[in-house]
Amino acid sequence: MNDKGILIVVSGFSGAGKGTIMNRLIHEYDDYALSVSATTRAPRTGEEDGREYFFLKKEEFEKRIEEGGFIEHACYCDNYYGTPRAYVEKQLDEGKNVVLEIEIQGAMNIRKQFPDALLVFVTPPDVRELERRLNGRGTEEPEIVAKRLRRAAEEAEGMDKYDYILVNDDLETCVKQLNELVKAARSAPVRNKEFIDNIRAELSALAKGEE
Ligand code: ADP
Ligand code: 5GP
Repeated sequence: MNDKGILIVVSGFSGAGKGTIMNRLIHEYDDYALSVSATTRAPRTGEEDGREYFFLKKEEFEKRIEEGGFIEHACYCDNYYGTPRAYVEKQLDEGKNVVLEIEIQGAMNIRKQFPDALLVFVTPPDVRELERRLNGRGTEEPEIVAKRLRRAAEEAEGMDKYDYILVNDDLETCVKQLNELVKAARSAPVRNKEFIDNIRAELSALAKGEE
């Protein structure tokens, strides 16, 4: 069966818990690699360059776009965000499941380039809880929170374009479910074409030998 890693896109409303889930996922399972994006937004308190994001100036970001340094990039609430190409390609080659935590335009872009990518949309159980989490995180000013909630309404329009919806109610359960989804996706026939071809070839050779 497929021992290569797959590309996993995780999107979801700001405050849904994507970052928290990713953290747990990479600590609890060792076959995941989390892509670190580049962004032009300012670091939040506690965020480190190269850990949460590569923080770039707008001009630097635009230069990287021109050089083809990103697999995809998008503008979200007035800032650029992009997935560095080199890391993703290297980790996939090494057999890791590579997780991209990106917004919906980026997700659709990845789907076009990598039709076998698994697309998961994370949501809290309801909108009240989303507001509570966004405000509770305390990292954005109220007007930015309002902007992100408006953006969430737009993103909800695209939820049905994903392969799975993942409800982040209890964190532990949610992380386990994500890992199960990835395991199941790796077993899908579309991601095991080589295995299927080999079995078919062997069976055909066997049948010929028996004639
Ligand atoms: P995102 O990366 O999607 O914007 P975060 O991971 O920053 O969201 O989570 C937003 C807030 O919600 C954080 O304060 C986090 O601790 C909290 N949170 C995440 N998951 C849960 C959960 N399952 N239950 C309660 N709070 C959660
Ligand atoms: P935040 O500012 O809260 O860290 O991220 C804002 C949004 O940008 C989130 O929806 C997050 O998933 C998305 N994002 C982060 N990195 C990337 C990226 O490399 N590409 C795209 N398209 N979106 C990203």
